[in-house]
Amino acid sequence: MKTLTTQVAILGAGPAGLMLAHLLHLAGIESIVVELRSRQYAEQRIRAGVLEQTTVDLMNDAGVGARMTREGLRHHGIELGFRGERHRIDLSDLTGGKCVTVYGQHEVVKDLIECRLADGQPILFESTEAALKGVDTDHPSLQFIYRGEPHEVKCDYIAGCDGFHGICRPAIPASSITLYDREYPFGWLGILAEAPPSREELIYQNSPRGFALYSMRSPTVTRLYLQCEPQEDLSQWSDERIWDELNWRLTGADGWTPTPGKIIQKGITGMRSFVAHPMQYGRLFLLGDAAHIVPPTGAKGMNLAIADALVLSQALTGFYIRNKTEALAAYTAGCLSRVWKVQRFSWWMTSMLHNFADDNPFDRQRQIAELAYVTTSRAAATTLAENYVGLPLMT
Ligand SMILES: Cc1cc2nc3c(=O)[nH]c(=O)nc-3n(C[C@H](O)[C@H](O)[C@H](O)COP(=O)(O)OP(=O)(O)OC[C@H]3O[C@@H](n4cnc5c(N)ncnc54)[C@H](O)[C@@H]3O)c2cc1C
Repeated sequence: MKTLTTQVAILGAGPAGLMLAHLLHLAGIESIVVELRSRQYAEQRIRAGVLEQTTVDLMNDAGVGARMTREGLRHHGIELGFRGERHRIDLSDLTGGKCVTVYGQHEVVKDLIECRLADGQPILFESTEAALKGVDTDHPSLQFIYRGEPHEVKCDYIAGCDGFHGICRPAIPASSITLYDREYPFGWLGILAEAPPSREELIYQNSPRGFALYSMRSPTVTRLYLQCEPQEDLSQWSDERIWDELNWRLTGADGWTPTPGKIIQKGITGMRSFVAHPMQYGRLFLLGDAAHIVPPTGAKGMNLAIADALVLSQALTGFYIRNKTEALAAYTAGCLSRVWKVQRFSWWMTSMLHNFADDNPFDRQRQIAELAYVTTSRAAATTLAENYVGLPLMT
C-alpha cells in the first residue's frame, strides 16, 4: 500500500471538491483530490449552467473567473410564460443591479482542473474502490486503488464531495443522520442542440401539457427541457417529437418558436428535494450533492455545492491558521440555514411551473393566479429575483 499524507483529503472532483481544493490552496492548506472518473469524463459531463451572482463573485475573487467573464452570457432577466404570454422578470432592476451568468458546469470544472494542475496540486483521476477509514477518530484516512496500486491518504479531515450516489454520506451511521427527502412525480427530458439562441433570456414555461424550459449554453448551442414521466423511455422521443413538443409548449401568442437544430445530447433527469442533517460526522464533512439535492427548476445545485466549499474552506482556514475550531463545529448550521431557504425556493418554482397529475381545476387556477401575481406585483417579483440571483452567503 502506498501511503500519502495531507491535511484534507477530498473525495470527488465536481464543483464542490474542486472549488474547496482551490480555496484551501489559496489559504496555504494542503489537499489531495481523489476522483473516480477520468479528466475527460469530468470535463464533458453536461449538467447545470446558471451561475448566481454570488458564485460569479467567488470565482472572480478566487482568480478562476477569467474565461467565465470572457465567454459567459450575462442575463439581467428571465421570462415566465403562461396562458400564451411571456412576462419578463427584470432581475437586475429588482436586486440593485445583480444578474446571473450562463456558463456550463463542465466549463467551471475545466477551469478549476486547469488551475489546480497549473498550481502543481494533485488530482488523482480514475481512482477506484474508495473507502473511508477512521472518520470518528483523530486520524482518518482514505483508501483507494490508483493506477492499479492500493493507496492510502492519511489526513486530518475528509471532505465528502462525491455527489448524491457517493460513499461518504452512507458512511455516517444511520443513528447519527436525519434525511429529509421528497421525490417529484415527474422528470426533465433535456437536450443540447446546435442552434443559435433565438431569445436572449431563459423562458420558464407553464403549459397545459407540462413545464418547458428554454435556455442556452453559448451563442451557438441551446439547452431545452420538457417535463416528462420520471421513468420516461428516451427511445420513444425522436428528435422530431421533441421539437414538436417544445414548439407546442413554448409557442406564445406572438408566434415565437425556438430555432430548431441538430440534437447533440439528450437525457432524463429525476427530480428530488433532499437534505442530510448534520453535514458532518467526526472528521468527515459532506458538501454539495452528497448532502443536499434540489430540483433544477431554481438552477441552484451547482451554486449550493460551491457555497458549501466556501463555508468549509473558511472553517478549515480558521482551524489551521488561527487554531480555532468554532467554525468547523458550526459548519452544518452555517450551510443548512441557507440550504433550506434555497430548498424552499426550488420547491416553490417547481410547484408553480409543473403539472402535477393529481391537480384538479382548482389547483390549476391557483397556479395561474400565482404566476399572474409574481409577474404583476413588484414585491412578489422581487422575492423571485433575489432568490434567483443568489441569497447572501452565510445567512
Ligand atoms: C443530469 C443532471 C442535470 C443537472 N442539471 C442541473 C441544472 O440544470 N441546474 C442546476 O443547478 N443543477 C443541475 N444539476 C445538479 C448539479 O449538476 C449538481 O448539484 C452539482 O453537480 C453538484 O456538484 P457536486 O460537486 O456536489 O457533485 P458532482 O458534480 O456530482 O461531483 C461528484 C464527483 O464525485 C465523483 N465520485 C462519485 N463517487 C466517487 C467515488 N466513490 N470515488 C471517487 N469519486 C467519486 C464523481 O465522479 C464526481 O466527479 C444536474 C444534475 C444532473 C445529474
